[in-house]
Amino acid sequence: MMGCQVAPAQLFYDFCLDDHVPANHLLRGIDRHLELDSVRAQLRPFYSGTGRPSIDPELMMRMLIIGYSMGIRSERRLCEEVHLNLAYRWFCRLGLDGKVPDHSSFSKNRHGRFRQSDIRRHMFETVVERCLAQGLVGAEGFAVDASLIAADANKQRSVPGSEWEAKEESRFGLRPGYIAADSAYGSADNLAWLVKEKKIAPHIPVFDKSNRTDGTFSRSDFTWEAENDRYICPAGKELKQFHRTYATPRSGITAKGTRLYRASKRDCDHCELKPQCCPNMPLRKIPRDLNEDARDVARAIAATPQYEQSRHRRKKVEMLFAHLRILRMARLRLRGPCGARDEFLLAATAQNLRRLAKLRPLHGVIAA
Ligand code: SF4
Repeated sequence: MMGCQVAPAQLFYDFCLDDHVPANHLLRGIDRHLELDSVRAQLRPFYSGTGRPSIDPELMMRMLIIGYSMGIRSERRLCEEVHLNLAYRWFCRLGLDGKVPDHSSFSKNRHGRFRQSDIRRHMFETVVERCLAQGLVGAEGFAVDASLIAADANKQRSVPGSEWEAKEESRFGLRPGYIAADSAYGSADNLAWLVKEKKIAPHIPVFDKSNRTDGTFSRSDFTWEAENDRYICPAGKELKQFHRTYATPRSGITAKGTRLYRASKRDCDHCELKPQCCPNMPLRKIPRDLNEDARDVARAIAATPQYEQSRHRRKKVEMLFAHLRILRMARLRLRGPCGARDEFLLAATAQNLRRLAKLRPLHGVIAA
């Protein structure tokens, strides 16, 4: 017989919200790892001591985490979803009849006090601390990658990277043994900073324009002899910076910040390999970057099995960007550098919480 659902006419219900959130729900896993005790203390100086009680900042932080974990980008929709979804209500400690903030008050707080107090960075660091405590961060190596995410930005009002306020890496006292990145990070300056200043092994492909494609010898066909400060060409002749002694010593550094090593014209004139080496020049010249030694370190590392391993690990960072797009972060909603920073901090916090929930689930329960 076909059943027919009739709205029950009970006046009172025995209903426990906690019973209706599945044990393996992602938000349960996130809730287990979320520590917001310090949020209130961090935000207290930004609230007045008198007047009407505000919306609970912890409630707003929980709502933001839902938004960035579940791909709900619109604040208006987030408020609606929290109002209707039992699991979201449970996560926000709202009960069945708790009032969900209006989306405009939510936005006002988010862009006002939250930004002034830098609470998002505080939360991000709290979650990273949790990852460290759970043994998910070893710091033997870091992987870096970049992805383009569209934003509403005015190029005329852009701020050079050098003027950005940089936060120290040293926040957690972590010191990576190596850094894996793609060739966009393989400039001589970057590599020199890593190798000489930070003493970190660069697992980075060298950004190299010296390879020739016209069939003539590339720089890699010449052998560098550091102890003699010279190159040896395929014909066994030497290329030096100076072929005579100057009365006034010269630095030998060109305007491009390189040292120029030259073969002897006499050697090149009589060389059988000249058509393959410098067919249109009287002699062969090889520029050497001032930080070429750092590039050589990166080239040597690229030939090791450890480099191959770190290259595979770097691919995991690419996956994180793909997940961001799945969570509808293909375009930033907030404007300006502060808006971008806020969005990325929240997205990274949500990603780390999702990872914690998945890798460190409740005892005996596999997280969704
Ligand atoms: S052309 Fe000059 S630099 Fe080139 S291989 Fe011959 S001798 Fe060496």
